[in-house]
Amino acid sequence: MIVDLSDILKNDEETISLNNSIDLSSLEFMGEDFIFTKPLQMVGTIRNNSKNLELEAEVKGEMQVRCARCAKEFTTPVSYPVSEILIREDGEISPDSDVVIFSGYEVDLTEIVVNNFFMNVEGRYLCKEDCKGLCHICGTDLNESQCDCETDTIDPRWAALAEIIKDTTTE
Ligand SMILES: [Zn+2]
Ligand SMILES: [Zn+2]
Repeated sequence: MIVDLSDILKNDEETISLNNSIDLSSLEFMGEDFIFTKPLQMVGTIRNNSKNLELEAEVKGEMQVRCARCAKEFTTPVSYPVSEILIREDGEISPDSDVVIFSGYEVDLTEIVVNNFFMNVEGRYLCKEDCKGLCHICGTDLNESQCDCETDTIDPRWAALAEIIKDTTTE
């Protein structure tokens, strides 16, 4: 997604509005696949503040991820802010500053959107807050059914408490 900056580079205080679709299809991050079920929508502005260009935007979309507990695939909303300073390669760039450098009169927003996605993505998604996950012995999805495996991971005192809770809630 290339944006033409020639107009705002000519005039200080000039702003352009962004409302762009960025079709990434999928990204891989730390062994995890993120599949975008529709293009990401980037809405915001690029402003010439007379020294450099300020990009402020919000990225929204939808992606398919895998539950960290039961491995079920599900879609979850994507929403994150993007805030960057854009500086032309022949401008004043201090080596330690965190800026996006562009050349000529265009900037590639896709790269910025991808980098910011990685800064905002969560490492772990759950299909639901209380997902019970898979039995670690037989692999049964414990959200759908129970298995007969011996699970010695539950402390007997908690099991007793669980019984009491079950009794009181079923009355
Ligand atoms: Zn799950
Ligand atoms: Zn089992």
